[in-house]
Amino acid sequence: MGLLDVCVPAHCTVCGAVHRYGDHPVCELLRGYALCPACRDACAPASAGNRCEVCSVPVPRFIRVCERCRREVFAFSRAVVMHRYSGVPERVVESFKFAPHKSLGRFVAEQLAPALVGSFTPPVTLVPVPSSLRSVRRRGFAGAVVIARELARLTGVPIEELLRSRHARSQKALSYEDRRANALASISLKAHRAVPHRIVLVDDVLTTGATADSCAERLIAGGAKDVCLLAYAIEY
Ligand SMILES: [Zn+2]
Ligand SMILES: [Zn+2]
Repeated sequence: MGLLDVCVPAHCTVCGAVHRYGDHPVCELLRGYALCPACRDACAPASAGNRCEVCSVPVPRFIRVCERCRREVFAFSRAVVMHRYSGVPERVVESFKFAPHKSLGRFVAEQLAPALVGSFTPPVTLVPVPSSLRSVRRRGFAGAVVIARELARLTGVPIEELLRSRHARSQKALSYEDRRANALASISLKAHRAVPHRIVLVDDVLTTGATADSCAERLIAGGAKDVCLLAYAIEY
């Protein structure tokens, strides 16, 4: 046990386990978060497997597009997602959003950076999915903006915060169609902004896809030719 362990005890930002400073890089501590080895291992990129070409959910071998994406046509052309929204990745997002540990946005961005570089050929522009003003007031920051800015810093990919979100009704009890209409009504393009042709929307979690789809629709109406999505986790 080192001197730091005795003098400055610390906990895993995600699970709360007491850890030893020797267990992870000092640079991580300087960034304001620390994951225990178990949480870090659980966030290692999942093995590729076969995934839906549109929304990234796992599908059986030889299937290219999942049942839902065959049924519904999204305005975004595909989504690249790292994790299923469960277990440790879910706790990472929950801690980031609700604890809140804003610094975990850096960890999420570090995890997403290789996927951004490996999945999208330049030139692309990052556009964060906007948070409503109410959520920004509650948390003190907009989650997707924090992640997208850090991604831009890490990879050099340009970022433009083109979208805004008015307060929307709670989405929880709504059907997909109602969620979609609700999301579309709340999202708009900021005035007098030129929209790049190829865009990668950035979000923390992809749930039904209604919000991302509405963002893509607004961007396409504003002049984008192709809109994709990069998200940390997906609910399914
Ligand atoms: Zn942990
Ligand atoms: Zn799909």
